[in-house]
Amino acid sequence: MNREEMIKKVAGYDGYWDFVVIGGGATGLGVGLDAASRGYKTLLLEQHDFSKGTSSRSTKLVHGGVRYLRQGNISLVLEALHERGLLIRNAPHLVSHQAFIVPNYEWWNGPFYGAGMKVYDLLAGRLGLGSSKHLSKEETLKRIPTLEPKGLRGGVVYFDGQFDDSRLAVNLAQTMVEHGGVPLNYMKVTGFTWAGEMIDGVTAKNMETGDEYEIHSRVVVNATGVFTDEVLKMENPGAEPIITPSQGVHVVLDKEFLPGDSAIMVPQTTDGRVLFAVPWHDKVVVGTTDTEVPDVSLEPRALEEEIKFILDHAAIYLTKDPTRDDIQSVFAGLRPLVKAGEGKSTAAISRDHYLVVSESGLVTITGGKWTTYRKMGEDTVNQAALVAGLKDQPCITKDLRIHGWLKHFDEHDPLSYYGSDAIYIKKIVNADPAMGEKLHKKLSYIRAEVIWAVREEMARTVEDFLARRSRALFLDARASIDAAPEVARIMAEELGYDRKWQMDQENAYVGLAKEYLLT
Ligand SMILES: Cc1cc2nc3c(=O)[nH]c(=O)nc-3n(C[C@H](O)[C@H](O)[C@H](O)COP(=O)(O)OP(=O)(O)OC[C@H]3O[C@@H](n4cnc5c(N)ncnc54)[C@H](O)[C@@H]3O)c2cc1C
Repeated sequence: MNREEMIKKVAGYDGYWDFVVIGGGATGLGVGLDAASRGYKTLLLEQHDFSKGTSSRSTKLVHGGVRYLRQGNISLVLEALHERGLLIRNAPHLVSHQAFIVPNYEWWNGPFYGAGMKVYDLLAGRLGLGSSKHLSKEETLKRIPTLEPKGLRGGVVYFDGQFDDSRLAVNLAQTMVEHGGVPLNYMKVTGFTWAGEMIDGVTAKNMETGDEYEIHSRVVVNATGVFTDEVLKMENPGAEPIITPSQGVHVVLDKEFLPGDSAIMVPQTTDGRVLFAVPWHDKVVVGTTDTEVPDVSLEPRALEEEIKFILDHAAIYLTKDPTRDDIQSVFAGLRPLVKAGEGKSTAAISRDHYLVVSESGLVTITGGKWTTYRKMGEDTVNQAALVAGLKDQPCITKDLRIHGWLKHFDEHDPLSYYGSDAIYIKKIVNADPAMGEKLHKKLSYIRAEVIWAVREEMARTVEDFLARRSRALFLDARASIDAAPEVARIMAEELGYDRKWQMDQENAYVGLAKEYLLT
């Protein structure tokens, strides 16, 4: 997947695309891949990098959403569980089975998911990942030795999926290319083109060169997450906002806080949230919060009270209380929740997806979650093809293997999440053993991955590599800062940039990564 080639495909084509998709997060990539794989001529435009927005900042769960059961939203859970099963089948290199323990304490008087988990198992049907079961106090502590033993009665174990969100985004873009689609990062949509009252394309700006393009399309899809309203306003300055952005924060801790393979799931915190502590890439991700925020941004910042909330709640369940000094990275993401009636807390607003066609023919898809990205894509393309009068083509993504698909691999191989691409990275090392050296002693990443990310995964900046091709920024922000100069050097060499570019990149990255640190 090469950006120059993609740009040429845009610059060299004057005709109509079938689909132009705005937004390169989970939703846009789901739509883009669905459309391209049906044979539609499809272009996806992302203003920054793929999954720069919400889609790299999730809890990393492929889940039915146990808590929606409590809200009685069975169809949402059913759909998500089905999608969970499909994703594990289609991207086994990126999605794994994860055991979750719901601890049961004497003082606990909220809902406890003993019986509820059986319903969850039943809804998953043959795509289930394993049966939930009750655990004694001893069994619970054996699985999670750092769980607070005082007052512990036992627990329930259930299974869900876990994944790497931004890696999946890159692999979806690659799969799109394999089906003739054109995904482009650093290409911002700045407006629409019109044929009378109807939208017939977009204007877009290459954020690297400043070049501007007019691109025509039979249908345009707005898949811009929390930026949905900005795009709706481009279409109609008087458009009513439909998004309530809700911020969720995670902190990342050392694995010593949660040794072993099991995650903790706390069904109800004081503001009615679910709190997770999940092992991820040899660290522990703890979160999340649900804070309504007035503004949207590509780099939302965690609030002090959100960090305090997570640390305070983690301390209730863990024997060793984590402190601010233990936090290796803190990241915030914005949920694109669709507006509900006044006075509802954001924790209670629907997590269903929302598909609407404007009078101008613009198709907007938002809400939902990563787990259901494929279904959102399918529903959107069905609708959009109708709007555009395109020839009906069946959806094939249920059984479509995602780039990198590999079923049997060594989980302990640090390159395993590349799936079938891992051998090519090893070839880079074979050709030049220096490329096998680690970028930092505290990170598992090697130099060859930087080269691979530039050549095959459209990484354009140091941040693209350290935040989304690798996950260094999210796992250990300080170590990622130390690794930045070497990443900048390798990238400058690969991309043919000069020393100034290298220095600018280093500085920009350090400025950004400091925001992921508390001390
Ligand atoms: C804290 C948190 C935890 C979550 N955890 C989970 C989880 O564990 N499991 C799960 O299934 N879901 C989870 N979700 C939900 C999931 O992450 C989101 O539903 C999903 O990522 C939204 O994707 P999106 O593509 O709609 O939005 P985004 O990822 O934000 O993508 C929108 C993209 O549009 C681009 N864009 C905007 N304007 C323009 C323009 N003018 N031109 C070009 N591009 C533009 C942006 O740059 C952005 O990249 C979580 C969400 C949050 C906030």
